[in-house]
Parts: sequence; C-alpha cells; structure tokens
Amino acid sequence: MGNGKVVFVTGAARGIGKEICLEMAKEGYDISLNYRTKTDDIEDLKKQIESYGVRCAIVQGDVASYEECEKMVNQTVEELGKIDILVNNAGITKDGLLLRMSKEDFTNVVDVNLVGTFNVTRNVIPLMVKQRSGRIISIASVVGIAGNAGQTNYSASKAGIIGFTKSLAKEVASRNILVNAIAPGFVATDMTKVLSDDVKENINTMIPLKRIGTPNDIAKAVKFLASEDSSYITGQVLHVDGGMLM
Ligand code: NAP
Repeated sequence: MGNGKVVFVTGAARGIGKEICLEMAKEGYDISLNYRTKTDDIEDLKKQIESYGVRCAIVQGDVASYEECEKMVNQTVEELGKIDILVNNAGITKDGLLLRMSKEDFTNVVDVNLVGTFNVTRNVIPLMVKQRSGRIISIASVVGIAGNAGQTNYSASKAGIIGFTKSLAKEVASRNILVNAIAPGFVATDMTKVLSDDVKENINTMIPLKRIGTPNDIAKAVKFLASEDSSYITGQVLHVDGGMLM
C-alpha cells in the first residue's frame, strides 16, 4: 500500500540509487527513477518496485543538462502528481593525480556531481516551496570532508554538495523544507570495484566496524532523513561510514 508520498531518485538504475528506490518502495513511497544509460534491467526494476503496491515512473536524462532535468521533473509531476522527496544520488569519478588531470576530467565530475545536484534541485524547489513541505537528500562522500589523493575533482564536487546543502537548508527552512546530505564511506558498488587491492586489504584497519558498507546501509539513512522521525534535522551531513571518519 502506498503512503501517498513521491520520491524522485537520480542515477537510480544501479548501485546505491537502485537500492534507495527499493527500500523506499517497501516503505510505501511512489518512485520516480531517473536513469541515464538505457539498460534492459530498467523495466524489471520498475516491476520489482510496483510489486510493493506503489507507482513507479521512469525518467531518462542526464543530470548535467539543466534542460533535461527540467523535463524529468515535469514528467515526474505529470505521472505521479508531485515530488515530496528528492534524492540527489547520480555521481561519477574520474580519478587521477592533479599533476596529470585534464581540465575535462575535472569539469566532467563537477558538472555531474555538483552542477547536476543544482540542476535537479533548482527545478524541484519551486514545487516544494508551493506545497510548503519537502525533503532534499544529497549523497556526498567522506572524501568531501577528509579529501583523498587522486580525487581532487571528486572531493571538490562532494565538498560543494555539503556547502550547497547547508546554504539551501537556511534558505528554505521557513517553508518546511529540510535539506541534508549523507556522507558514505566505502560502499560495495560498481564505483568501488576498481579500488586497489591495497585499499581493500586496509579496510579492516581503516573502518572501525571492519566491513565495507552495503547500498542498503545508505538506503536506510535516506529512509530516516525522508521520514517524520527526522523532522527536526536540517543542514546536516550524516556520516554512514562504519566509523571511518569521526
Ligand atoms: P555507481 O554504481 O557507479 O552508480 C552511479 C549511478 O549514477 C549510475 O546509475 C549512473 O548511471 C548514474 N549517473 C552517473 N552520471 C549520471 C548523469 N550524468 N545523469 C544521470 N545519472 C548519472 O555508483 P554508486 O556507488 O551507486 O554511487 C551513488 C552515489 O553515491 C554517487 O553520488 C557516489 O559519488 C556516492 N558515493 C558512493 C560511494 C561508494 O563507495 N560507492 C561512496 C561515497 C559516495 P549510468 O548507468 O548511466 O552511468
């Protein structure tokens, strides 16, 4: 049975985004899922979501394009009526030391992760202001706080999301819109498949809880920040990293 609320998740075809959709569907939210690259699995994911008795819209588009974000938001409202919760999840990495990093690799990552967060949020916020309620949850990263060699582009984009979150939280608090970020540590997805064996071996010493995170660890935090249980929390960065950064 649906709970009457609609959540829009970007980058939702795989990894953390997909798990957020499934966890939120289980909770009764209608889901608008954005994907960028066509996959055969997307219709299966829609069926899986609908099996929880909720509605599901599929919106294709690139978050780095402002026009496509405008279309995706409009399509969501046409199909599902409104947006109560936005989850800015789409993200990419293009790692390399700054000494060898091309301008393109820097700007591509910032364009998707940070400008993409602006593009979607900018198109959703007027709806939330009008309905005088809403939640915006953006997926940042532990490296946006602590930094990481080889990720100047990625950590700059994630630190940017944190500043964006805090400023927007102050702008829209009076309209009952809560804006928070989640900073995951290492999570087992395609993004971290490429981690060196060195890093993987060190996980036990780097993470007090001695395991890599699962997409569900992050989805559960999203569920909390979307719920009534977090109605006095805004402008915060929730660390979900097994204690990696304290
Ligand atoms: P992932 O498995 O690589 O999935 C990323 C998703 O984002 C994919 O569905 C991808 O779609 C989508 N995406 C990328 N660029 C996009 C664009 N321009 N427009 C729309 N969608 C786009 O990564 P993940 O691990 O699930 O990461 C999800 C979020 O968590 C990211 O913001 C990431 O930075 C953050 N995060 C991850 C970790 C980790 O350890 N995994 C840690 C901290 C933070 P395509 O299939 O089209 O590429």
